Amino acid sequence: MCPVLTDGCIEAITQAGTEEQKQRFIPPMVEGRWTGTMNLTEPQAGSDLALLKSKAVRQDDGTYRISGQKIFITWGEHDGAENIIHLVLARTPDAPAGVKGISLFVVPKFLVNEDGSLGKRNDVICTSLEHKLGIHGSPTAVMVFGDNKGEVGEGAIGYLIGEENDGLRHMFVMMNEARFAIGLQGTSIAERATQQAWTYAQERIQGTAVEGGSRESVSINKHPDVRRMLMTMRSLTEGSRAIALYAASRADLANQLDDPEERARYQAIYEYLVPIVKGYSTEMAQEVATLAVQVHGGMGYIEETGVAQLFRDARILPIYEGTTGIQANDIIGRKTMRDEGAVAKYFVKEMHDTASRLLDSGDNDLRFIAQKLDAAVEAYAGVVDFLIDLGAKKAMNQAFSGSVPYLMLAGYTHSVWQLARQALVAAESGKSGSEKVATALFYAAHIAPRVLSLADAVMASEECVRSFEGISFDA
Ligand SMILES: Cc1cc2nc3c(=O)[nH]c(=O)nc-3n(C[C@H](O)[C@H](O)[C@H](O)COP(=O)(O)OP(=O)(O)OC[C@H]3O[C@@H](n4cnc5c(N)ncnc54)[C@H](O)[C@@H]3O)c2cc1C
Repeated sequence: MCPVLTDGCIEAITQAGTEEQKQRFIPPMVEGRWTGTMNLTEPQAGSDLALLKSKAVRQDDGTYRISGQKIFITWGEHDGAENIIHLVLARTPDAPAGVKGISLFVVPKFLVNEDGSLGKRNDVICTSLEHKLGIHGSPTAVMVFGDNKGEVGEGAIGYLIGEENDGLRHMFVMMNEARFAIGLQGTSIAERATQQAWTYAQERIQGTAVEGGSRESVSINKHPDVRRMLMTMRSLTEGSRAIALYAASRADLANQLDDPEERARYQAIYEYLVPIVKGYSTEMAQEVATLAVQVHGGMGYIEETGVAQLFRDARILPIYEGTTGIQANDIIGRKTMRDEGAVAKYFVKEMHDTASRLLDSGDNDLRFIAQKLDAAVEAYAGVVDFLIDLGAKKAMNQAFSGSVPYLMLAGYTHSVWQLARQALVAAESGKSGSEKVATALFYAAHIAPRVLSLADAVMASEECVRSFEGISFDA
């Protein structure tokens, strides 16, 4: 997380900082001498940043004095770098309420002198480090700004990034980067879990083969159910990686093309995929990590195999940088209803085109993949239309009751599409591509049908809302 946050800090200052801020703060972070953090969360403001209370008061010299408490700040304090650059969200005294009154500040742990050397200790201190379920190599700090504990008097000295009250927009630069990166953390943990489970499954001898009549014990990777687990892990991981690579390629086009209309089009495609990369891939990592424990049997529950750590470390991924619920709100509200499904429908067309090419191939495996892809895409398209209709009727409780199922079914559909695209290319390359076809085949057979049941769940939104109304959790 430390490089991810530092990178996000660099990007936010690059996009919205002044020339002087860029000169002062970016080079030491690029060189790896300083690290960066992101300070959003406060005790009363987690998913809902409108509730932020930290204060920023403008001084005569144009700097600000920041005060308040931030919690859960990743790499907020450590001695592995010469300086720590905190990006902090806070409100000026006359700021409007809600997210339109939030400004963004750079608050260095040590002030930086004109010549780039480190100056006085700023008034920002870490009051404690959290004890966590996992990611024990990543310090999570409670940070207090403005408690008169530094060498600069009361109030941490901060520098405004961009305009007052426009902070959330700039912080979103950092958050989008971080969300994408957390999705990749999901894929990475899943990859490690898959490799570890595969190694163990080759070594562990237990049980006899269900076919062939031999009484000799075999390695567990010969059992169909263990193979199912291993293939589930592998295909989920490869699918999520393929979505991320595709999304990254769209971001490159959005940044590099000359035509502004084309750039905007690719940006919209990329932005639709970000909540899938973050939300779907991190939820997928839970399943893969738990399967890694399962493949290890009892040893999976014992620390020395290392898979228990993957299981614990994976658990934070669907929480930080916006929970799965928040990613689902994003994809359903901003990314689907707002443009009346324009981007989603673009994907539906592309996916059907891929299915047609697979069907035309004449290869039985590719045709099977095409049928499963087509069925998933039909369900995806139906759900998109259904949600747009609910949006038009302002039936938001109904629509949002299916938000996470929609996010997940979009993830499964995009995965099977990407794996199908890979299978097409692989089939053309002959034997060397056969593993890609096999992975897509398994995903189409065992995972893609999940789209259909998730679609049923979204479509039953009216019943879902009624069920909430008819129940009380009181004893
Ligand atoms: C290890 C760790 C590291 C972190 N690092 C950082 C960091 O570096 N910087 C930083 O600023 N923060 C950081 N955080 C904070 C993290 O981003 C928040 O914990 C997260 O955004 C959720 O906020 P919350 O904990 O207040 O949960 P809440 O917002 O209280 O959410 C609780 C539950 O309610 C749901 N929920 C809330 N609002 C909605 C809604 N509108 N619609 C649907 N569901 C909703 C959530 O999905 C969740 O299931 C970190 C947290 C942890 C645990």
